[in-house]
Amino acid sequence: MKRILVTGGAGFIGSHLCKRLVADGNDVLCIDNYYTGSKENVWSLIGNPHFEIIRHDVIQPFWCEVDEIYNLACPASPIHYQNDPIQTTKTAIFGVYNMCGLARRTHAKILHASTSEVYGDPAIHPQPETYWGNVNPVGIRSCYDEGKRCAESLMMDYHRLHGVRTKLIRIFNTYGPNMQAYDGRVITNFVVSALKGEDITIYGDGQQTRSFQYVDDLIEGMIRMMDTEDSFTGPVNIGNPGEFTMLELAELVLKLTGSKSKLVFMPLPQDDPRQRKPDISLAKSKLNWEPKVPLEEGLKRVIAYFEGRKPNY
Ligand code: NAD
Ligand code: UDP
Repeated sequence: MKRILVTGGAGFIGSHLCKRLVADGNDVLCIDNYYTGSKENVWSLIGNPHFEIIRHDVIQPFWCEVDEIYNLACPASPIHYQNDPIQTTKTAIFGVYNMCGLARRTHAKILHASTSEVYGDPAIHPQPETYWGNVNPVGIRSCYDEGKRCAESLMMDYHRLHGVRTKLIRIFNTYGPNMQAYDGRVITNFVVSALKGEDITIYGDGQQTRSFQYVDDLIEGMIRMMDTEDSFTGPVNIGNPGEFTMLELAELVLKLTGSKSKLVFMPLPQDDPRQRKPDISLAKSKLNWEPKVPLEEGLKRVIAYFEGRKPNY
């Protein structure tokens, strides 16, 4: 039985990861400060002898004995990470610094959840891991983008300098149950508005694109990455290459919900990337991984999840 630490384990992705790791027969310790996560996300695990949860901020050092670390702690939605951008930068950087130190002392493997945001507003399409990105270092998204870029740098230096077994994945837009109804991300905004019959807000002209991955596919990719040989650090893109404009997404949500909501156009937020689509050749070859859940199927599951939560939002 492996002892596995998951930081940010009470968040959207972390809660799915904790459930999968416990189901696979591991002993899981989750730490979270509940900034954007909640105990409700891991309610079904509380009381399980192979699951523990501790309130802790990863900006502070944390001591325990573990075999593997998944470092996910960090707000991910733009409205959340821009709410307190200094806290976001500190979480991204000190969080990974403290976890790399823990990995070094315990000889644990560490996987860090980096992001497609390291590519910024990409000038190369689709984005391979070899692309260095196009990030505005002083814009309103930079607390997250630059925080995550610095975290990648720290991971690689702990590997080169101290031989820590580091693993970097770059996650592309992911969705699924346990997302917060009002996290401001596009899938939750569109689905919740459609279910409530409220206007669907399209930012800009709606021609910007994103590639959406269902959470179960991501979790499989994370576990496969952790299981690669020690010398393989990544970074590896984990995402679904299906690419959609926000207008196409809105039309699909309207079709699947049968909603009569209207589309309304609002200003595009500053530094909003125009396009994003992962090149997943490396994940295919090194992890033998590719996503399985098409957007329409994943959206049906998310719609069912939010329908089941009415009227709690
Ligand atoms: P989330 O906001 O649902 O989860 C983040 C979790 O981290 C929350 O439970 C939050 O309370 C916790 N947290 C935040 N700051 C903390 C701190 N200082 N100390 C301890 N815990 C803290 O977000 P998510 O979508 O589940 O994202 C998880 C990770 O995956 C993040 O690192 C994010 O950057 C990365 N990621 C997510 C996506 C996506 O589309 N969801 C895309 C790329 C990368
Ligand atoms: N978006 C939108 N309407 C919304 C929320 C978001 O048109 O109600 C757009 C947003 O401008 C961006 C895309 O959807 O172009 C994805 O936004 P999200 O915040 O989900 O993710 P990110 O921009 O971080 O990829």
